[in-house]
Amino acid sequence: MTLINSKIHFILLAGGNSLRFSSNTNKLLAKFKNNNLLTHNIEFLKELKFKKITVIVNNLKDTNINIFGNLELIKGGKTRSESVKNALKKSKYKSKYVLIHDVARPLNSQKLIKNIIRYLVERKYDCVVPYTKCSDTVVVGHDNIDREELKLIKTPQGFIKNKIIFLHNKNNKKLLTDDSQLFRNEKNKFKIKYLLQNEINIKITYKAELETLNNLIENNILVGIGYDIHRTIKSNKNNLLKLGGAKINSKIKIISHSDGDVILHAITDSILGALSLRDIGTYFPNNKRNFNRDSIDFLNYALSKMVSKKKMINNIDLMIVSEEPKINPHFKKILNSISRSLNINKNRISIKATTNEKSGLIGRGDFIACWSNVSLREN
Ligand code: ZN
Repeated sequence: MTLINSKIHFILLAGGNSLRFSSNTNKLLAKFKNNNLLTHNIEFLKELKFKKITVIVNNLKDTNINIFGNLELIKGGKTRSESVKNALKKSKYKSKYVLIHDVARPLNSQKLIKNIIRYLVERKYDCVVPYTKCSDTVVVGHDNIDREELKLIKTPQGFIKNKIIFLHNKNNKKLLTDDSQLFRNEKNKFKIKYLLQNEINIKITYKAELETLNNLIENNILVGIGYDIHRTIKSNKNNLLKLGGAKINSKIKIISHSDGDVILHAITDSILGALSLRDIGTYFPNNKRNFNRDSIDFLNYALSKMVSKKKMINNIDLMIVSEEPKINPHFKKILNSISRSLNINKNRISIKATTNEKSGLIGRGDFIACWSNVSLREN
């Protein structure tokens, strides 16, 4: 497949004057993912090992030619059809097949390109054109059109190159919105394959469309880490320990200014960390007011900050290091409590526990520690 790709001429249509795209920048240089629409398309084709790539641009100054290395740039014409015709005629690349694609369609599909090439090369079609079905109601005037009859024509489209050159020459004056129209106009003289595409393949026309698409794609994940450690002492009587907000009976006592809930402290710090809001001690110093204080107050404070920044917890991964108490017997109770406190599903919470293999102060059972790693996403 990649061997065939390297022999196929691929024309990227980046002309167009972006009239409906109300922005100072050229639409094709507008931000998409970590790039812009034009370089996004080029990178995609390079990954698929296309080597004969021609980019049609209106203003050669718009693009930094150096960025695109060995790509062939050809200046576009006044109309779409003139631009494609220019590229077909002037290109240095020789090939039997050509694919033509609008740069304004960034949701490229490797599967679709593979299919187009298969129909051109193996099934000997002259023109392969992808389409999607129309799921919206279409009205002209006040009358509905039977949408079952509609094909929404997309790119990339594939052609036998000498045939599309022939048709472009023949249809000198015709304004075309896509190239497959040339083949349709010839009635049944050419073999045309309409390929149904079920994937989304939108053409960016308005700035708001690109913004919507960018918002969908960007994950804006924030990550925070939290760590807490507390001294523990062994006592003869049963103590009520708080771990993750759950009350646990244990012969261990946690020494702390607050209630010593090492898990909630770590979680609180990780959320504050993800929000770049310093740490728990900044807001809850060891003063009288916070003596013996329920750690849920600390957590709720961090959660309120998170909500005000329109974030929610994506997932949380906890690592508890403890010789005593053992976490396993209390696992469910702790998990349920954390799930309730954070108001997230249990399958987004991971609780791992380990001992310190008797090494160091934690290993001797003098301390209990907890790491929390949290990710936040847009709410
Ligand atoms: Zn603490």
